[in-house]
Amino acid sequence: MTTPVYWGSPHQTQLDHNETLPAKLDLILERLRLHERVEGHRVAIKLHLGNRVGYSMVHPVFVRKVVEAVKAGGGKPFVTDLPHSVATAHTRGYTAETVGCPLYPSTGIDEKWVTEIPYNYRNLERFYLGGAIEEATFLIDLAHVKGHPATGWGAAIKNLALGCVDGRTRGAMHDVSHHDPYFHKDRCTGEAHRVAIRESCPYGAIVDDRDDPDGLHLHYFKCNQCQRCEEVADGAFEILRSNFMAFLEVNNIAAKLVLDTFEPGNAVFINVATHMTPVCDCFGFTGLPVMPDAGVFGSDDIVALEMATLDALAETPIMEDNLPGMMEIVSREGHPWQWIHGPYKDPYEQLQMAEDLGLGSRAYELIDVLPVTEPDFKQVAYIQAAPS
Ligand code: SF4
Repeated sequence: MTTPVYWGSPHQTQLDHNETLPAKLDLILERLRLHERVEGHRVAIKLHLGNRVGYSMVHPVFVRKVVEAVKAGGGKPFVTDLPHSVATAHTRGYTAETVGCPLYPSTGIDEKWVTEIPYNYRNLERFYLGGAIEEATFLIDLAHVKGHPATGWGAAIKNLALGCVDGRTRGAMHDVSHHDPYFHKDRCTGEAHRVAIRESCPYGAIVDDRDDPDGLHLHYFKCNQCQRCEEVADGAFEILRSNFMAFLEVNNIAAKLVLDTFEPGNAVFINVATHMTPVCDCFGFTGLPVMPDAGVFGSDDIVALEMATLDALAETPIMEDNLPGMMEIVSREGHPWQWIHGPYKDPYEQLQMAEDLGLGSRAYELIDVLPVTEPDFKQVAYIQAAPS
């Protein structure tokens, strides 16, 4: 069985505001029957509000559309994200006035408003979920699509996974990528060999282990699996696919724990695929987009939504001229996000694991909410006057 994924294409036929992405978001929210579903609910709108001078997150115009739809349906919306992003959100244009509702930190001002959830996965024994999420009774996951150095890409799953838990949990989630040993001292011939391995990485992804002067530590987010280090290591240092995919899997787990706090049917998922930079909004700046805008996607199924978004992006190659000079394409195998972040950060395998975990279904039907048509040049004035 397929799940509908409603899609607003970035393409227009006429020069008309009714054919733009904010207008298509309205149509998607209608198709999701949002306003019929939110009456009386405390609605958490989970956004990534960015850091520092980033300006490519979901624009307040889109956020306000969602807020207005919730209010029209009798819901009580609030926008939420991690405390440090909420504290500075006004500097990037997100205020109660611009978006139309309050902004609350998902885990409290000092990340003490959390609930402990026991769950064993690799080094993790528990997650601490944000109180704002726990107190909400309806969730709108409003995510910006972009590349991500640790997961290959980030969208609806990642927006929930790392934006609704406290700092302890985020740190432990990142540490799952160090679970399987990758530096083997018994195969290292000495200090010169250890240093040669460290220095073989052109991106500085291999550093001294701060807890062990004779050890090595791999920064997974910097590693694109070019294998240069393995050529030097002679078996003493390994780039293990299992460690890379573990971080994608733990994102699925955290997203599932977040969604398990809501009654079935009390969550909708939206991906905004515009100005897609090579790295996450966490970095606090906006560079050139590396993929053309793909539009807005909305669904009741987070996995179907992610699958539809990934498939749409798979059709367009990376805009290589827009890549920062320190990033390179190591392979053109797999999804374009893997071209720049490496084959072991496999977004399709992540969605297979998400389906196995019970997060949703990868089978979807893409429904264009306003298909592009043949233009009628005679009927439309060159510039349409929009109502105020
Ligand atoms: S695989 Fe390449 S990017 Fe990764 S640590 Fe080794 S040399 Fe660095």
